[in-house]
Amino acid sequence: MSFDYDAVIVGAGPVGSTISYYLAQNGLNVAIIDKKRQVGYPLQCAGILSKHIFEKNELPDEVILNSVKGAFLHTNEHILNVEKREDVAYIIDRISYDLFLLNRAVENGVELINNKVIDINAEKGIAYFSNGEQITSRVIVGCDGYNSIVSSAIGNDHKNFQASQMLVSIDEELMNAFRKSDKPTDDYVDTYLFEDILPGFLWVIPLKYNQYRIGLFSNQSHRQQNVFLMDFLKENFSSYEIIEKYKGFIPIYNNKNLLVRNRVLLIGDAASQVKPTSGGGLIIAFDSCKMASGYIKKSIENDDVSALKGYQVEFDKKYSKEFSYQFKVQNTLNLLNDADLDYFFEKLRENDCEEIISEYGDMDNQSRLVKEFIKRGLIFKIIPTFLFKKVVNIFGFR
Ligand SMILES: Cc1cc2nc3c(=O)[nH]c(=O)nc-3n(C[C@H](O)[C@H](O)[C@H](O)COP(=O)(O)OP(=O)(O)OC[C@H]3O[C@@H](n4cnc5c(N)ncnc54)[C@H](O)[C@@H]3O)c2cc1C
Repeated sequence: MSFDYDAVIVGAGPVGSTISYYLAQNGLNVAIIDKKRQVGYPLQCAGILSKHIFEKNELPDEVILNSVKGAFLHTNEHILNVEKREDVAYIIDRISYDLFLLNRAVENGVELINNKVIDINAEKGIAYFSNGEQITSRVIVGCDGYNSIVSSAIGNDHKNFQASQMLVSIDEELMNAFRKSDKPTDDYVDTYLFEDILPGFLWVIPLKYNQYRIGLFSNQSHRQQNVFLMDFLKENFSSYEIIEKYKGFIPIYNNKNLLVRNRVLLIGDAASQVKPTSGGGLIIAFDSCKMASGYIKKSIENDDVSALKGYQVEFDKKYSKEFSYQFKVQNTLNLLNDADLDYFFEKLRENDCEEIISEYGDMDNQSRLVKEFIKRGLIFKIIPTFLFKKVVNIFGFR
């Protein structure tokens, strides 16, 4: 059987561009397809990446806008401050980063095709375009985002949270008053837990020059989120300027969905590879690109599509426990109303948990902190007594 390409990547977002670059570097004949003429637009990202990014992908200095070393964690009544001595995360210009990754792929021999994929044949390796054309490939990689056509074509069902974000300018003094702190305003992110937006949360991410990306994901519609964000700004800052507004979607991870079927493999938002608690997707997806590229190469070299299945096995082995912990945390938070959240934060402070979170907290590996809380017997000191039974059920304690 002859094919037009060794690998066709659907979607030239950061994940599609990264996997196509790895495959081209391995000497494969690769095409990447995107329906947009200008990839990266409109912005749909808060642009925060943990320091682990450097282990997972290239991050050029030019796209780094800021770095942070900690966070202020808020409920209505309480604020916790957690931090490390060194930078823990980078705030990036996501649009420039997407372009950097795509250019890197094209410069290394990946062919960029501007077209919309409307369906695929997973068994025969055919991608069908909206203009009636089609191409064939030994492997098709779905990196076409939260509403993935490729994922649907292999029988997956996907659900997403809505997310909204604004670029806002706020004076330093007002930000310090909001945090009840005079620490440098651009060294910290803020997160806010409110019962109305659980299981999501609200974030304030500092860029330089008193500009912030303020956004949230939740079960609400974009319209409700816009009202929520406007109320948040009005209640917490006596003056501010909204520069831009953005909307997006965050996939909900579903462990029943397939990552591989016949000649098809999924990575990134198309595979709902997004951290349940934070909605961050890039680090895991970049790691998955590394994993997947080895199986794709092997499958093509040996002309054996069954080799692709190794990717599903390796992904599950590496991430299923972490995702499961994050869902447990999310399910626990979901039980709390605003008064419970205040109680929870009060108890965290009373039990010196700011220090524990500072030491064991890791944006990408949250199970480490949860395990530490369990080990120290803290879980039942920080949640309201009437929820003990439900939390026992969620975590499966005996
Ligand atoms: C508001 C918000 C804030 C976020 N903040 C962060 C953050 O701070 N840190 C973090 O790590 N993650 C964050 N995320 C998640 C992160 O943005 C995604 O995980 C990431 O964009 C996934 O990249 P991707 O390449 O898989 O998909 P996408 O970036 O969605 O790219 C998919 C590409 O596929 C193309 N495409 C789609 N369908 C087709 C088709 N049928 N034919 C051809 N092309 C197609 C699209 O045009 C697009 O270019 C955030 C998400 C949102 C919504």
